[in-house]
Amino acid sequence: MKKYIRLRYSNDLPGIPLQRDIEKLALADRRTLGCRFGEPCDPRQLIKFNDVKKILETHDEYTAHYGRSVKGEFEDRWSGATLCINNGYNLIMINPEHSLSRRTFTIAHEFGHLVFNHHAIIIATERMPQSRYNDEQELEAHSYGLAVLLPYAPLLQILRQSATAQGIALHYGVSIAAVEMRLKITGLWEMLTKE
Ligand SMILES: [Zn+2]
Repeated sequence: MKKYIRLRYSNDLPGIPLQRDIEKLALADRRTLGCRFGEPCDPRQLIKFNDVKKILETHDEYTAHYGRSVKGEFEDRWSGATLCINNGYNLIMINPEHSLSRRTFTIAHEFGHLVFNHHAIIIATERMPQSRYNDEQELEAHSYGLAVLLPYAPLLQILRQSATAQGIALHYGVSIAAVEMRLKITGLWEMLTKE
């Protein structure tokens, strides 16, 4: 990525209708959180506006919550789940074995399910709870999470200034895979400077 990227406020939106609608929702939430144009946004802050009591994402947090260690109880392919606990409050559980950038995306994704009021079928297993959403719901949650983390209009400008996926990931505190996914679903993939 070039050393200096210049950003100017603009209200460009994705051309794909579903992505455009989701972008507007995510932008409103970013604004409410006080995240300025092109600034990174920590999705953990969304807890203020949703009926979420707690987010568990580190081993220390799990140990404090359950009063015991849960080390070794998480399968790698499990990323996270939102459980409805008492009084309509939710508990977001994230795989503590995953990297910070991956957990950040999973948290944004789980808030996506809450924003769209998706109802999952929660399957209690011996180990981690499994939640099942349909593909359409998963796409919505994914798109919302990515829009909160990687807003479209500044992304467009960053790409025009020849940023790499790595540079974008570093700036926003997300994985390169998340950046690539975002570019693919918003039709910006072709603009990426490939290394
Ligand atoms: Zn999901």
